[in-house]
Amino acid sequence: MLMSSRLADVNHRIELACEQAQRARSSVTLLAVSKTKPLADLVTAYQAGQRHFAENYAQEAVDKAEAAPFDDAIWHFIGPLQSNKSRGIAEQFDWLHSMDRFKLAQRLNDQRPAEKAPLNLLIQVNISQDPAKSGVKPDQVAVLATQILALPRLRFRGLMAIPAADLPLATLTAQFQELKRLQQSLIRDFPECTELSIGMSGDFPTAIDCGATMVRIGTDIFGAR
Ligand SMILES: *Cc1c(COP(=O)(O)O)cnc(C)c1O
Repeated sequence: MLMSSRLADVNHRIELACEQAQRARSSVTLLAVSKTKPLADLVTAYQAGQRHFAENYAQEAVDKAEAAPFDDAIWHFIGPLQSNKSRGIAEQFDWLHSMDRFKLAQRLNDQRPAEKAPLNLLIQVNISQDPAKSGVKPDQVAVLATQILALPRLRFRGLMAIPAADLPLATLTAQFQELKRLQQSLIRDFPECTELSIGMSGDFPTAIDCGATMVRIGTDIFGAR
């Protein structure tokens, strides 16, 4: 299948999932996860109407954002970010989904150019509570969010999670619902905490049913990596 057809198919499946969940299509943003794919693939997706792109590796991410032959895309960084790689993301990106520690937030705040809008942050939550997985424990999210509020070049916008692979549907759903409950409890103190970044190629209809506002889809758009 052509990539533009795959993209159209993903958009169609998002529309169906929204209908099923009785949600407006406009309440879910599709992020095209373009990690490891050449810039030409992003250009093809852009020409087919895609505007949000998500990348995982800092150097590759910054290189692509700089080289892209369009300037109205919205760039999301969704991978783990080492402190020594933060500058390019602070300078070039619009969203960071993997916030997990205050030190990194401070660096990004210092490095965010004054002429740009504040960098939008999602705190990554360890929903499986597996110590081997990255992300903040659910009961620590409010602490980090409070610290971030003091940083004027950053905006705390919501939560992100990556579930363990191959969970039974009931477990996956329970974890997504718990994340949604956490977001709803936070929004009382953090009114900008409106976003829920969950859902990948294998599980995005379930994520949309559970309240996803951003789905991160790579394989189903660009093919296997
Ligand atoms: C690679 C990746 C995705 C996309 O996964 P697909 O299964 O290819 O859709 C989404 N989120 C994160 C954090 C990723 O690293």
